Amino acid sequence: MCKLCEIKPVYEFTNQRKLCERCFIRYFQKKVLYTIRKFKMIQQGDVVGYVAGTQGCTPKNIQKNIFTKGKGFRDVVLEDVLKMFVGKGNVELVRLPAHLRSQINKTDNKEKISKVAIAQTIDLTAYKIINALINKNVKNLEGVAPPVESKIIKPLYLFLDEEVLLYAKLRRLKHKKIKERKTELMNFINELEIKHPEVKRAIVNSYLALR
Ligand SMILES: [Zn+2]
Repeated sequence: MCKLCEIKPVYEFTNQRKLCERCFIRYFQKKVLYTIRKFKMIQQGDVVGYVAGTQGCTPKNIQKNIFTKGKGFRDVVLEDVLKMFVGKGNVELVRLPAHLRSQINKTDNKEKISKVAIAQTIDLTAYKIINALINKNVKNLEGVAPPVESKIIKPLYLFLDEEVLLYAKLRRLKHKKIKERKTELMNFINELEIKHPEVKRAIVNSYLALR
């Protein structure tokens, strides 16, 4: 049972705390606001751009103009929480048209975009960190997957994919099922998470503690 409402839960954390639909949505939205504040992602007067189809996209892919087709669950959730955020202050939200996609890292874009939000979750961040450690070709681990990379911000940084997917379902956000290529390392980390719940979150938290 949801501790607050005493009704049927939709989500259970590993510490057995359970949340009903309404409480889960509230938890999720509050945590997004916390993430944006904690990592100073958006300031007053910012124009925040986002593109549909950055599903799992890395900043590198964005620079190279590589996008998935259609909106996946992370994309629709990112859009939903950004709309909630800009409703609260002097911040503008711009859905970037296709021809601007390649320019989002430049400062002289026509739309005066000052930040670009992408839908990177704990799952992808943990993968990037482990991948960098295994390949040992990394000079600066801190720079591998930070919550903010110059103009690029990641409001879903502290969420698991499963939380993002559940939020999309509960809010009835229309999205496409996008097949994502999984590497062996990704499968391995997913297996690890089943045996040791919270391992992905722990990887990202340890990484943040380095900074
Ligand atoms: Zn509740």
